[in-house]
Amino acid sequence: MSPRKQALSTKRIAEFKKRLMEERARLRASLERMESRGEELVDAGAEDGDFDDAASDAATETLDRGTDMALEENLRSLVEEIDAAIEKLEKGTYGVCDNCGGPIKVARLERLPYATMCVECQERMERR
Ligand SMILES: [Zn+2]
Repeated sequence: MSPRKQALSTKRIAEFKKRLMEERARLRASLERMESRGEELVDAGAEDGDFDDAASDAATETLDRGTDMALEENLRSLVEEIDAAIEKLEKGTYGVCDNCGGPIKVARLERLPYATMCVECQERMERR
C-alpha cells in the first residue's frame, strides 16, 4: 500500500479549479468597478472652484477613498491567493501546505478553496 499524498480526485480538482476561476473573475470585476469609481471621484474634486465646499468635499472623499482602498487592497491580495491556488492546481501540489508540505484537509479546502497552507501553519503565521 502506498501512502496517498493528495486525497483529491481529478474530478474534485476540476471542481475546485472551476470555483477558483469563477471567484477570481468575480473579484476582478469588482476591482475594475472600484477603479473606475476612483477616477470619477478625482475628476469631480479637481473641477470644483468653491474652496470651502471643495475642502469639506475633499475630506469626505479622502475618507471614502480610504475605505475603498483598504477594500481594494483586500480584493487584490485575495486575487493573488487565488492565482497561487490555481498555480498549485496546475502543478499538482494543490491541497499540500506551502509551509510544511503536509496535507490541507479537504473540509478546509471546501470552505476556503484558495487556502495554500494547513490550519496549523496559517494560525502560526497570523499570530506572528
Ligand atoms: Zn502546514
